[in-house]
Amino acid sequence: MTSGESQNAKGQGGHLRAALFGLCPRCRARSLWDAPAAFAPACRACGLAFANYEPRGRGLYFVLLPLTALLITGALKLDDAVRPPLWLMLGLMVVVVSGVIIGAMRLMKAALLIARLRAAGVLA
Ligand SMILES: [Zn+2]
Repeated sequence: MTSGESQNAKGQGGHLRAALFGLCPRCRARSLWDAPAAFAPACRACGLAFANYEPRGRGLYFVLLPLTALLITGALKLDDAVRPPLWLMLGLMVVVVSGVIIGAMRLMKAALLIARLRAAGVLA
Protein backbone atom coordinates (compact mmCIF):
# COMPACT_ATOMS: atom_id res chain seq x y z
CA MET A 1 0.00 0.00 0.00
CA THR A 2 1.38 3.41 -0.88
CA SER A 3 1.16 6.31 1.48
CA GLY A 4 -1.47 7.92 -0.77
CA GLU A 5 -3.75 4.88 -0.45
CA SER A 6 -3.11 4.85 3.28
CA GLN A 7 -4.07 8.50 3.63
CA ASN A 8 -7.17 7.94 1.49
CA ALA A 9 -8.28 5.01 3.70
CA LYS A 10 -7.60 7.08 6.81
CA GLY A 11 -9.60 9.98 5.33
CA GLN A 12 -12.57 7.73 4.59
CA GLY A 13 -12.53 6.37 8.14
CA GLY A 14 -12.24 9.89 9.51
CA HIS A 15 -15.22 11.11 7.51
CA LEU A 16 -17.29 8.05 8.49
CA ARG A 17 -16.35 8.35 12.17
CA ALA A 18 -17.18 12.05 12.10
CA ALA A 19 -20.56 11.38 10.49
CA LEU A 20 -21.34 8.62 13.02
CA PHE A 21 -20.74 11.02 15.90
CA GLY A 22 -22.83 13.74 14.29
CA LEU A 23 -20.10 15.92 12.84
CA CYS A 24 -20.58 17.55 9.45
CA PRO A 25 -18.31 15.71 6.98
CA ARG A 26 -17.23 19.03 5.44
CA CYS A 27 -16.72 21.45 8.37
CA ARG A 28 -16.83 19.10 11.43
CA ALA A 29 -19.54 21.12 13.21
CA ARG A 30 -21.83 18.97 15.38
CA SER A 31 -24.89 19.37 13.16
CA LEU A 32 -25.49 16.14 11.20
CA TRP A 33 -28.18 14.34 13.22
CA ASP A 34 -31.52 15.99 13.93
CA ALA A 35 -33.07 12.82 15.44
CA PRO A 36 -31.47 9.53 16.53
CA ALA A 37 -31.32 8.26 12.93
CA ALA A 38 -32.39 11.20 10.77
CA PHE A 39 -30.21 13.88 9.21
CA ALA A 40 -30.77 17.57 9.84
CA PRO A 41 -31.92 19.36 6.68
CA ALA A 42 -28.59 21.19 6.37
CA CYS A 43 -25.42 21.96 8.31
CA ARG A 44 -25.97 24.98 10.58
CA ALA A 45 -22.34 26.05 10.14
CA CYS A 46 -21.49 25.58 6.45
CA GLY A 47 -24.93 25.08 4.86
CA LEU A 48 -24.21 21.66 3.32
CA ALA A 49 -27.66 20.25 2.44
CA PHE A 50 -27.69 16.80 4.07
CA ALA A 51 -31.31 16.20 3.01
CA ASN A 52 -30.25 16.06 -0.64
CA TYR A 53 -27.96 13.10 0.09
CA GLU A 54 -30.02 11.25 2.73
CA PRO A 55 -30.68 7.60 1.81
CA ARG A 56 -34.37 6.76 1.95
CA GLY A 57 -36.65 3.95 0.92
CA ARG A 58 -36.36 0.23 0.60
CA GLY A 59 -32.57 0.04 0.33
CA LEU A 60 -32.33 0.29 4.12
CA TYR A 61 -34.43 -2.89 4.48
CA PHE A 62 -31.53 -5.00 3.18
CA VAL A 63 -29.71 -4.28 6.42
CA LEU A 64 -32.64 -3.95 8.81
CA LEU A 65 -34.47 -7.19 7.92
CA PRO A 66 -31.51 -9.55 8.50
CA LEU A 67 -30.63 -7.58 11.63
CA THR A 68 -34.20 -7.97 12.92
CA ALA A 69 -34.09 -11.72 12.24
CA LEU A 70 -30.78 -11.90 14.12
CA LEU A 71 -32.23 -9.99 17.08
CA ILE A 72 -35.30 -12.25 17.23
CA THR A 73 -33.08 -15.35 17.09
CA GLY A 74 -30.88 -13.91 19.84
CA ALA A 75 -33.90 -13.14 22.02
CA LEU A 76 -35.27 -16.67 21.59
CA LYS A 77 -31.87 -18.24 22.38
CA LEU A 78 -31.49 -16.02 25.46
CA ASP A 79 -34.98 -16.96 26.63
CA ASP A 80 -34.21 -20.66 26.17
CA ALA A 81 -30.83 -20.46 27.90
CA VAL A 82 -31.53 -18.16 30.86
CA ARG A 83 -35.34 -18.06 31.24
CA PRO A 84 -35.37 -14.45 32.54
CA PRO A 85 -38.60 -12.97 33.94
CA LEU A 86 -40.87 -11.45 31.29
CA TRP A 87 -40.45 -7.87 32.57
CA LEU A 88 -36.65 -8.20 32.36
CA MET A 89 -36.82 -9.73 28.88
CA LEU A 90 -39.13 -6.97 27.59
CA GLY A 91 -37.01 -4.21 29.11
CA LEU A 92 -33.84 -5.74 27.74
CA MET A 93 -35.37 -6.11 24.27
CA VAL A 94 -36.52 -2.47 24.16
CA VAL A 95 -33.03 -1.23 25.04
CA VAL A 96 -31.08 -3.70 22.87
CA VAL A 97 -33.34 -3.55 19.80
CA SER A 98 -33.56 0.24 19.74
CA GLY A 99 -29.81 0.59 20.31
CA VAL A 100 -28.84 -1.90 17.63
CA ILE A 101 -31.32 -0.60 15.05
CA ILE A 102 -30.40 3.06 15.62
CA GLY A 103 -26.69 2.20 15.54
CA ALA A 104 -27.07 0.25 12.29
CA MET A 105 -29.14 3.03 10.71
CA ARG A 106 -26.56 5.64 11.69
CA LEU A 107 -23.68 3.55 10.38
CA MET A 108 -25.39 2.82 7.09
CA LYS A 109 -26.69 6.36 6.54
CA ALA A 110 -23.31 7.88 7.41
CA ALA A 111 -21.50 5.54 4.98
CA LEU A 112 -24.00 6.28 2.20
CA LEU A 113 -23.81 10.03 2.90
CA ILE A 114 -20.01 9.96 2.60
CA ALA A 115 -20.20 7.91 -0.62
CA ARG A 116 -22.80 10.25 -2.14
CA LEU A 117 -20.86 13.37 -1.12
CA ARG A 118 -17.72 11.92 -2.73
CA ALA A 119 -19.62 10.99 -5.90
CA ALA A 120 -21.01 14.54 -6.08
CA GLY A 121 -17.53 15.99 -5.63
CA VAL A 122 -18.39 17.76 -2.35
CA LEU A 123 -15.72 15.81 -0.41
CA ALA A 124 -12.21 15.18 -1.69
ZN1 LIG B 1 -20.85 21.78 7.84
